[in-house]
Amino acid sequence: MLDVNMRLISMLGLLTGIVIIGLALDYLYIARRPVRWGLYVAIAGILCGVGLTLTAVLPENNIYGRVFCQGDIKNKVVALTFDDGPYPPYTEQILDILKADDVKATFFIVGKNAAQHPDLVRRIFMEGHQIGNHTYHHIDLLKANRQTVIEELERTNDVLLSITGVKPHIVRPPHGFRDPVVLEVMAGLGLKVVEWSVMSRDWTNPGVEKIVNRTLDKITNGSVVLLHDGDGIRSEASRAQTVAAVRLIIEHLKTEGYSFVTVDDILANMKGVSR
Ligand SMILES: [Zn+2]
Repeated sequence: MLDVNMRLISMLGLLTGIVIIGLALDYLYIARRPVRWGLYVAIAGILCGVGLTLTAVLPENNIYGRVFCQGDIKNKVVALTFDDGPYPPYTEQILDILKADDVKATFFIVGKNAAQHPDLVRRIFMEGHQIGNHTYHHIDLLKANRQTVIEELERTNDVLLSITGVKPHIVRPPHGFRDPVVLEVMAGLGLKVVEWSVMSRDWTNPGVEKIVNRTLDKITNGSVVLLHDGDGIRSEASRAQTVAAVRLIIEHLKTEGYSFVTVDDILANMKGVSR
């Protein structure tokens, strides 16, 4: 685990400087002997930058700190997770499907949307689903300073606590983006970071069939599935395709013998993870 209390953006800035200096030295025929050190340093800097960026955006790595994206593969369970809501009428439609099929899921809620639709948050909570923090304005936390990261998370926790009486203890950073400072702030607020192991890119509205097939193709025991009942804080795009796909995904996985659990249930069955 990389224990560097430094923003990704600062590290990338530093590397960009090293790359420029390396290339300049090579261009000016300096640092070329016995080999082209300037050029090699520049190439190493570029590769390092690509690596650091990928570790910040790919869901399945713990380089910057512990994140959870997959449950124990021994258990035939799946956790459906819905991001960016609440967003009428799609959140209600998804809740209706979950209720009819007796399925429990997890909703990573945007604080601003929660403040606008407290009744929907209450319904999610009352129907036994888990609620997680997804920041207040759905911002890219890699571009925010430490104080903004804290405010985004605390404000969302506060609004969710005021509606449900329970403070969330899980968080999903928007787009899954995180760096050492983001993870440190989340840990300081007692929030476990949850990414995902299956995504269908449903937010691009690629068609119901594609959402269903992309999801089912990747499902294994303990999968955490990323879906969207909302659309950031814009709340403009339709989520009708996701609603239709969820019905089919649940139907298919039930025939295969899968049970549906919340993220807490997935975490509880993982070794070394306390709730
Ligand atoms: Zn999101």
